[in-house]
Amino acid sequence: MSNSYLRLSGVHRHYGEGATQVRVLDQADLVVESGELVALVAPSGAGKSTLLHLCGLLESPQAGEVEIVGNKTSKLSDRSRTQLRRNTVGYVYQFHHLLPEFSALENVTMPQLIAGKSPADADKRAMELLDILGVAPRAAHRPAELSGGEQQRVAIARAAANHPRVILADEPTGNLDPDTSDLVFQALQSLIRTEGAAALIATHNHDLAKRADRIVTIKAGKVVPHSL
Ligand code: ADP
Repeated sequence: MSNSYLRLSGVHRHYGEGATQVRVLDQADLVVESGELVALVAPSGAGKSTLLHLCGLLESPQAGEVEIVGNKTSKLSDRSRTQLRRNTVGYVYQFHHLLPEFSALENVTMPQLIAGKSPADADKRAMELLDILGVAPRAAHRPAELSGGEQQRVAIARAAANHPRVILADEPTGNLDPDTSDLVFQALQSLIRTEGAAALIATHNHDLAKRADRIVTIKAGKVVPHSL
């Protein structure tokens, strides 16, 4: 099987109609392989969130194909799209959105329990992820008792809980100071390597983007290589 876990071909996405139409993506192509971390750097309004939403099956293109682990998604029913998204995509946001009443461990076990895993297996997987991300000693703490960087690493563990093949992140370090950003990015990178996921990370942080395997940007509706 191909290792292209994420593949966009000829993707078109516009908002509105007629004179006020905004063409965000126009015949856009992108391939991300297993174990590859691609940084997405583009000015505000260029279409980063739109691209991530399309990759994460949260939005549909008006034309073109989005393939996740070989599954073409353009003709799927809403139900099948949702199923595929749950099984294959992990999403990390700028703000962690952890559940405040639950411990770090519980925040990472919850999506697994919802997916039908046994509590013992879910705990084991959660501890493994918290360990990869360097926050295992904080497993019993609630989000409010964690630093910003620790909260974000727990959020990354939660996004990875059900073994997503594709990890998408929208400014995952946007809310953190430079040293903490560095730590969180390193943790994310080691997770992607260990798990062999394909990752697309939107970031304004050029120092971090330079450490990705590749950098892409959005120009005239296309996803194109970029250098910083
Ligand atoms: P970025 O994440 O790079 O800041 P976005 O993907 O959020 O960019 O937006 C790209 C362009 O599409 C912007 O011009 C934005 O105003 C427009 N846009 C995004 N979502 C919508 C929407 N739901 N309706 C209308 N226009 C939108």
